[in-house]
Amino acid sequence: MSNILDGKEVAKKVKLELKEEVEKLKLEKTIIPKLAVIMVGNNPASQIYIRNKSKVCEEIGIEFEEYLLDETTTQEELLSLIDKLNKNKEINGILLQSPIPMNLDINEAFKRISPEKDVDGFNPENVGKLTLGQKGFVSCTPYGIIRILKEYNIEIEGKNAVIIGRSNIVGKPMLQCLLNKNATVTVCHSKTKDLEEITRRADIIVVAIGKRNFLKENMVKDGVVVIDVGINRDDEGKVKGDVDFENVSKKASYITPVPGGVGPMTIAMLMANVVKATKEQNK
Ligand code: NDP
Repeated sequence: MSNILDGKEVAKKVKLELKEEVEKLKLEKTIIPKLAVIMVGNNPASQIYIRNKSKVCEEIGIEFEEYLLDETTTQEELLSLIDKLNKNKEINGILLQSPIPMNLDINEAFKRISPEKDVDGFNPENVGKLTLGQKGFVSCTPYGIIRILKEYNIEIEGKNAVIIGRSNIVGKPMLQCLLNKNATVTVCHSKTKDLEEITRRADIIVVAIGKRNFLKENMVKDGVVVIDVGINRDDEGKVKGDVDFENVSKKASYITPVPGGVGPMTIAMLMANVVKATKEQNK
């Protein structure tokens, strides 16, 4: 049986550290970090994510401002709100909750968010910095995964790391994060041939595809470290990951559960990015 990588516990530790930093900022500089979240339309899952983010902001002492835009919002209206928030000195971080309606161009919107306030790390400038190994904002899920590996003293350097999924928000930035830590990284996707052969050679596997029970025990070697990013619902509506946890955990040395693994870390690292943005803007 493997060791559980307890994202909830590590997130708790990160949040406590941040709370102290926020208190110090308030006392020493009378600054209160502020996150602005934009949501377009009324996607029920997005509403839950935003509520969770606002709760964590409150826990840490970060101010939270929500901008709820109608489904019929135009691209110009969305961009003009982003411009307004970019200029507002009281706002330190801006987050555009995805998905947004299909008629809007999310990439153009991410590009418009000022790189200094881009706490999600989706602006091309921050993506480029990550690729070049320069300082910037790192997308929260990969950032959280690197932090959880660090907390459990799991060596990355020299390891064979395999990522399943190549999305802009998880798979691709994960590649850069692992590469920057000197892993040898393979990125797989829906067109990858002989996936099992690749995953069976992996020391670390990150699965981010959104398919329940996708990674099975016959696809991994003994002692592998498994990071499950997936969020799926089973027939009873319970949250499950992309990994067949019950069976894979018998072979893995470490594994993240779902829920309680990557999810809490993603939110904690968003908060870390907001605090970092605040500090950098007030140097
Ligand atoms: P996307 O849907 O954007 O990307 C899915 C990726 O999986 C694509 O690259 C796709 O390949 C690949 N894929 C799909 N089927 C297969 C397959 N059979 N074999 C190999 N690769 C496959 O997903 P996201 O990255 O946005 O999210 C992935 C999952 O992670 C979702 O469940 C999401 O809810 C969850 N998530 C969780 C977060 C957290 O904090 N815990 C944060 C973000 C996401 P191709 O490119 O070829 O289509």
